[in-house]
Formats: sequence, C-alpha cells, structure tokens
Amino acid sequence: MNKQQKIKVEKKMLQGIAASPGIAIGRVFIWDSEEYSITKHLIPTNKISEEILRFEDALIKTRSEILDIQRKISREMGFEHAEIFNAHLLVLEDRMLIEEVINKIKKEKVNVEYAFLRILKKYSDIFSKMDDEYLRERLMDIQDVGKRIIRNLLGKQKQSLKDLKENVIVVATNLSPSDTALMHKDKVIGFTTDMGGRTSHTAILARSSEIPAVVGLKTLTPNVNNGDIIIVDGNNGNVIINPTKLIIKKYQNEQKKFIEFEKELSRFKSLPAITIDGRSIVIGANIEFPEEVDSVLAHGAQGIGLYRTEYMYMNRTDLPSEQEHFLAYKKVAQCMKKNTVVIRTMDIGGDKFVSHLEVPNEMNPLMGSRAIRFCLARPDIFKTQLRGILRASVYGNLKIMYPMISGLTELRQANEILKEVKQELLKKQVPFDKNIEVGIMIEVPSAALIADILAKEVAFFSIGTNDLIQYALAVDRINEKIAYLYEPAHPAVMRLIKSIIDVGHNAGIWVGMCGEMAAEPVFAIVLLGLGLDEFSASPVSVPEIKKIIRSMSYEKAQEIAAKILTFDTAAKIQEYANTKLKELVIKSTE
Ligand code: PEP
Ligand code: MG
Repeated sequence: MNKQQKIKVEKKMLQGIAASPGIAIGRVFIWDSEEYSITKHLIPTNKISEEILRFEDALIKTRSEILDIQRKISREMGFEHAEIFNAHLLVLEDRMLIEEVINKIKKEKVNVEYAFLRILKKYSDIFSKMDDEYLRERLMDIQDVGKRIIRNLLGKQKQSLKDLKENVIVVATNLSPSDTALMHKDKVIGFTTDMGGRTSHTAILARSSEIPAVVGLKTLTPNVNNGDIIIVDGNNGNVIINPTKLIIKKYQNEQKKFIEFEKELSRFKSLPAITIDGRSIVIGANIEFPEEVDSVLAHGAQGIGLYRTEYMYMNRTDLPSEQEHFLAYKKVAQCMKKNTVVIRTMDIGGDKFVSHLEVPNEMNPLMGSRAIRFCLARPDIFKTQLRGILRASVYGNLKIMYPMISGLTELRQANEILKEVKQELLKKQVPFDKNIEVGIMIEVPSAALIADILAKEVAFFSIGTNDLIQYALAVDRINEKIAYLYEPAHPAVMRLIKSIIDVGHNAGIWVGMCGEMAAEPVFAIVLLGLGLDEFSASPVSVPEIKKIIRSMSYEKAQEIAAKILTFDTAAKIQEYANTKLKELVIKSTE
C-alpha cells in the first residue's frame, strides 16, 4: 500500500510479539528501503525518446552492478554461488519485458518508472500463479532486479538506518539482522516489524541494544504515516497509534515504573548466582559485536557464553581479514580478563544474510547451507577465522564453539581443519593456547539424540534453543503466523533439554544454554532444576536470572523440574512454572 492510500488511524492498538522490553513514545519513521512511491505522470511527445533513454541507462547501470556483484562472489565464494546471478542477468536481457515497457511509454505517454512498475507487476502476477516451483522461484529474481532498476531510475542509493538525524521509532514490514545491526542506536528509540518472531535475530539484536521493540504486528506499516506518534510497549507486545494525551501520560508512568524495576534488579548485578543451598551457576551473556563487552560487564555477567561472530561479515563489501578477526577477539578476551569467552565460529545463513555477497535466498535457508556447513564447504574462509581466534587465545580465556553440528562427521571435519590451522601456526611459531577447549551448540535434534556420541569428543555443550525449538517442533522461528506454535514449554523441548544435560553430565562435560530461553525468568527455575551449569543470553537478562537463582534452593528447583516433566502440554508446564516463579521468587523478594 503506498502512502496516498493510507488511512489515518486514530488511537488504535495493535497486538504483536514482545521482542525487547521497555516503552518508547515517539514519531514514526517508516523504513522500507525498497518501497518508493511511484506516481504516474504524462510525458510530452517530444520527451518520449529521453524517457526511453533513461530506461536504457538504468538497464545498463543495473547490469554493470550485477556483474560487479557476480565477480565479487566468484572471487570470494566460488563460481557456483556467482552463477545464481545469471538468472538476474536474464531478466535484464528479456526483450519481451523491455519492449513492453517501451511500448507502454510510447503508447500511453507515461513516465518510465510508472510504465516499468506496471509491467513488472504484470510479470510478478503471472509468475506467482505458476504451478511449477522453479518458475515460481523466478519471481524473486524478477522482483530483485526490478527493485534495482527502479532504484537506478530514481537515482537513489540504498537507504541505511545509519543515517538517521533525529530520534525516531523505526516501523518496518521486515528488518533483516544486517539492517538492524546498522541502526543508529542513539536515534532509534524503538522499533516495530510486521513480520518476525521473538527469537528472530532482529528481536535478539533489539534486546542486546536495549531498544524497546515489538515484532509480528502483521499490519502496522500500512496503518501509520511518517511522523505519526506511536507508543511501543515492548513489555506487553503492543503498539498504540496516535494515542491521546491521557494514554501518553499513562505510558510515561509505565516507563518510569520500568526504569525503577530495572534499578531494583541492578543490585543483583555484582552478586554471584548461587542457590540458597550452595549450587553455583555461571551466568554469561551473548554478544554480537566486541563493543557490547561494556554492557556485558555492566550487567554483571561472568563471561560470554556466545559471541555471534557472523556479524563481522555483514554490511561490508569484502570478507574480514585474519587480522580483523584477531583484533576483535583479542579486544573481547582482554576486556573479559579471566572470564570465559565462547567464540562461536560464524553462523552465516538462515536469516543472517551477508549483504555484500548478496546470495539470493535458498528455498529453505534455515535448513540450508548455513553455519558449519558453509564453513566446511569453504575451509579457506573458515581457516581465516580459526587463525584469528587461535592467535587471540593467548590474551584471555577463549573457547571455540561450532554451530549447527548435526552429526559426528561434521564435528570431526571441523576439528581436522582446526588441527591443520594449529599445525600451521606451530610451524610459524605463532603463539596460541594449545589447550583451547572446543565445544558445540546442540541446536539440531539429531545432535541432541546422539549427544552421548558427540560428548566424547568435545569439552562442552551449549544448548541453542532458538534453533532447537524450531527444528524439533517444525516451527519457523521468524514466522509470525505460527509464532503461537513456537513453544519453549513444549514437553518435547523439556525432554530434549533434560536429556542433553544428563548425557553431558554423564560424560563429564558442562552444559550451558545460549538460546533466548535462558533469559526467560519463567524457565529459570526449571532449567536450574534440570541441572543446567551455565545460562547465557542478552546482557539485560543477567540481573533477573541471578535474582531468581539466588532466591531458590537447587533441591526445590529439582522437585519443580521433575514435576514439570510429568505434564503433557506446554500450557500446563507454562502455568506451573509461572505459579512457582511467583510463589518462590517474586513473593520472597517483595
Ligand atoms: C540458538 O539457536 O539458540 C542460538 C543461540 O543461535 P542463533 O540464535 O544465533 O541461531
Ligand atoms: Mg542457532
């Protein structure tokens, strides 16, 4: 829907999914880099040939952009990845499409942007109705190239959230993690998306940056205009459009209460996470960028349970060098001193696209060539990162963690590459921690089922519930339409977690959790009771998890966990866990 068609909505509330706590009240900035409002206007007859020339120039420019990308991909990722762009070039060379646009300009004497958009729409409609899966997929190519041509016709640069000049609430249909990573943190006071779920990386980034956010709103974007006032309630997951003064006042009070609540929690920051009967738990935090170390320390985390290094590959036009890897990891290692820093090797793919490589979507990206699969296919890229980690390992307490391991062969292949890198460094007499520990994420159900086999060859497990839940329950973690089925409290998830922890302990290794479930107060007692050794999630979650652990006995938590394992639905588990949290933790500190 374009801006002209939008109806001004008065005082309306939309319910979405709470993605990041806090309340923001401010002006809307609609962010949709590729949605330009194109209007039709008539062209005088003597200017028609100029208009056609503009079209041809835009086609030439687009072609040269695509060829540039193709060359870059071919160099950095291999020829087969670059070949995908042949489909884009074919769209550009489609004589029928080009002739149709030119004829429309000539016949109707309309501007080229309008003529092109109409023809593009006609093609998109035809392709979207095709029965053939392959042809339907071509729709994406047509739309991608179409956006590029329109951008060139309008002489626009790709918009960036880095360039914001004033405080705004960003409202978007969808935001990729790479867009979100670029957000000007001081200017974006809140954001909303129509798509997405609570464990999408966009939501996770919002929590890391402590920006109130609501996702999965479905229809907010078509209902607001730039400059409208909205309230983003990241605690309850709703958005209020054009609120009255009275409602604004109410939410300003809520804002104050939230700040007080956080202040109250902050006294737990510097205290150890130890139960009243003496069980010590490690509370770590997750980061995406080295700069977040300050926030990790400020929130009282005892280490970094997950460093999502893939963000180093985003929003740039080349691959990170070994030296860049080294410097980033060295900085984190030094800041964290003796505390553990788990560096996860890059997990590109899924919803984390690497913008400069612009590899088009796979049919099923969350189950595609991502994470360790990509690294094993490109050992050159993998080795560069491993060298960086190993070189930085002398500056602190680093551990290596592989993502998305689904079987023993993958683990061994990754370790083989690591061994080669170590030998190369030894030969060159480059110092590194010879005893650096290697662990894996347990986030694929197959890995959970063979955890006993994998445990023999790793130093630790970290349960990646964000992915584990989506694969175990077959529920896409970023799809708002089925978000109601994404249930951490599902009995199947509880059984998986219990089994991973038990198997890890039987093998004598520690088991942590770095999925967002580790940050949910409602599950803290259960996870403690199941025997989890380490919790790690967004830094903001640290004080509250510490508070819960400190107000419980391990014995009681075990009793609660055992009871929960007898329930047959997620609803019963959730309700019981909630009741126990209120009874044992909230009441005890009131
Ligand atoms: C997970 O899957 O739980 C996890 C921590 O990794 P990511 O969210 O980066 O996929
Ligand atoms: Mg994961």
